[in-house]
Amino acid sequence: MIYDSNGGKWYKGNLHTHTTDSDGAKTPEEAKRLYKSLGYDFLALTDHFHVNEPDNCDGMLVFSGAEYDWAKDGCYHIVGYGLKDKPRLVKGDLPQKFIDEIKRCGGVVTLAHPAWSLQRPDKMVELSGIDCTEIYNSVSGYPYSPRPYSGNIIDVATVMGFRATLTAADDSHFYGDEVGRGFVYVKADELTEEAILKAIIKGDVLATNGPFITCGFEDGYFVVKCEKGCKYVQFFTSNYYNPDTTATGGTVCEARFKIKPGKDKFIRAEAVDFDGKTAYSQYYFIDPPKKNF
Ligand SMILES: [Zn+2]
Ligand SMILES: [Zn+2]
Repeated sequence: MIYDSNGGKWYKGNLHTHTTDSDGAKTPEEAKRLYKSLGYDFLALTDHFHVNEPDNCDGMLVFSGAEYDWAKDGCYHIVGYGLKDKPRLVKGDLPQKFIDEIKRCGGVVTLAHPAWSLQRPDKMVELSGIDCTEIYNSVSGYPYSPRPYSGNIIDVATVMGFRATLTAADDSHFYGDEVGRGFVYVKADELTEEAILKAIIKGDVLATNGPFITCGFEDGYFVVKCEKGCKYVQFFTSNYYNPDTTATGGTVCEARFKIKPGKDKFIRAEAVDFDGKTAYSQYYFIDPPKKNF
């Protein structure tokens, strides 16, 4: 857990983890011990078509979860965690059924690794009930796969109406290079399953490979504060061109983007530190200007 400059508490977690209960290289107990030793506050065990019993580990919360995949007309991997009941799902069920059943069991629904799945934005918009999607998935990156980053696909889907909290996760399988590369900080008053899940649904989440940032609107600007200073910050809006999307030079502790109401429908930011690690803000939506009649 870390504090932001306003005293807010941000808990660290990995929300996508495999074990020997499916195709992961560590047992649930070993996986829990590893993430606990790395300083994580919460962990979701999300084996393929297998629901783990929630079982906390020395003060680290462990959520029950599972991942359901479908690959016929396109590829969909749907992760659910915080389950209060076991989803009644089998291989061959449709992606929307995965989502509906996870919801029935009180779980949080994540559309996993869109870039790895070569997800089509027009198909993402058709899904109903998605809470989160992974802008970064560690095991979809080097040395296992070439597509860890899904920002471009999610941007297009968001222009088309898709809405989801952005997360980052290891999707641990091999327990090699992917461990610790992608994680979330969740802002909550206390470390309980209820508080963490509620904050995730609300979007009080920072997806990151390491750096910590906070963001918000201030006097017509979107402002990003980098707690330890970054090499550069880039802004992503619903427009394909903006002249002022990069803040760089020296150590960037604060970056500002002037909102153009009526032009930019959303904004998000990525802050890259001097080790090349990135923090990914949530999407912030800009209300259209009120018309004066
Ligand atoms: Zn997957
Ligand atoms: Zn997975």
